[in-house]
Amino acid sequence: MEDRANIKVCTAENLFWLLIWERELTMEYSGEGSAQGVFSCELCRLSTPFSYYGQKPPNTSSIVLLEECYVMKDPFSPEKEKFLVIGSHCSLCRKRVCVGTECSLFYTKRFCLQCIKMHLEEFPQEVQQELTKRKSVQKND
Ligand SMILES: [Zn+2]
Ligand SMILES: [Zn+2]
Repeated sequence: MEDRANIKVCTAENLFWLLIWERELTMEYSGEGSAQGVFSCELCRLSTPFSYYGQKPPNTSSIVLLEECYVMKDPFSPEKEKFLVIGSHCSLCRKRVCVGTECSLFYTKRFCLQCIKMHLEEFPQEVQQELTKRKSVQKND
């Protein structure tokens, strides 16, 4: 699959997990009906089923997310309350973006990297530094 190469762009640990899980996903979700749909990132084209979109995932008593986002149950944890955040919408351009370091950043709200780059001077220094840090990480990779 051509998409695989693009998926690697997302280096966040949870996305790596998603990739591993992806192989078993088809079996697990067919007929179960627990997947709400398929999330696809508009920047890196990562595509994966999600089980919930919103701020309070089901079966979680104490978790309220800081943003409305796409989540799925953590396939590696037997605990019901464990889940992975896959992505969310950029608060500026409303693009659907994954949480990969190449695609978005959460700073009080979710921003896609395109918007951050466009408005970089308006973000505080710590965000700018974080971005520089990510760039250097990418180089060494
Ligand atoms: Zn992405
Ligand atoms: Zn954006």
